[in-house]
Amino acid sequence: ITDVTNTKELERLKQIDALKTEFIANVSHELRTPLAAIRAYVETILNSLDELNKTMLKDFMKTVFDETLHLENLVNQILDFAKIEQKTLKLEKTWFDLVELCQEVIQSMGEFAKSKQVSLEYEGPDQLIVFADRMRLRQVLMNLVSNGIKYSNPENRYKYVKIKLERLNDSVIIAVSDNGIGIPKEYQSRIFEKFFRVQSFKDYKVEGTGLGLTICKEIVELHGGKIWFESEPGKGSIFYVKLNIGE
Ligand code: ADP
Repeated sequence: ITDVTNTKELERLKQIDALKTEFIANVSHELRTPLAAIRAYVETILNSLDELNKTMLKDFMKTVFDETLHLENLVNQILDFAKIEQKTLKLEKTWFDLVELCQEVIQSMGEFAKSKQVSLEYEGPDQLIVFADRMRLRQVLMNLVSNGIKYSNPENRYKYVKIKLERLNDSVIIAVSDNGIGIPKEYQSRIFEKFFRVQSFKDYKVEGTGLGLTICKEIVELHGGKIWFESEPGKGSIFYVKLNIGE
């Protein structure tokens, strides 16, 4: 019996190690792409300051700004993951309006959604005051909505990501649904694993680290909540987060 367990454990460790190697290659690439863009734009600005009009300069600076945000997100994700591994991620809970937070997330994701022709929707009450870590829940929602946009189905004419809030006694269920590509059944049990990403959907390559859902799960569980999903390949996915409303 011991032997079998050891072999299984060894297999598991090997699998994580392979994913980690892939992760490092992936992240290096993801860090390099925005860096290269920032460098190229700044170089152009420096070399042709006299020829650039204000509109062009603004366009260039907007790209530099967006790429910087992208880098910042990536680095923050890696730092959060390190905190999770070291068990030093701590919550700072306050009372706040979850509906307002959902609207803020929809607002922040607007530009990204528009670039992928995805419509963002909200359904639920006008106000729902909860006791939780606002910044961390914002991160969870941003991650789920951004996944819904990233993994939208290019073949759909109408694409959406919807945040729905539903109150159940002392708890709230947040459902983030999309009509995207869905998750193949054979990978469904693994998507919360660290570094795990579903291998290329045909030639459809999407950027990512495979850490987003791992971080979401940790944040939700630190709150004493639960996260799960339902997904139908080719139809879409729904991610659910269940949280206690009060202290
Ligand atoms: P990533 O950085 O790869 O997006 P995540 O941890 O957020 O990492 O997600 C893990 C994997 O789960 C993704 O690579 C993707 O294959 C799958 N996934 C997550 N959310 C969705 C979704 N809404 N629709 C389809 N696939 C998803």
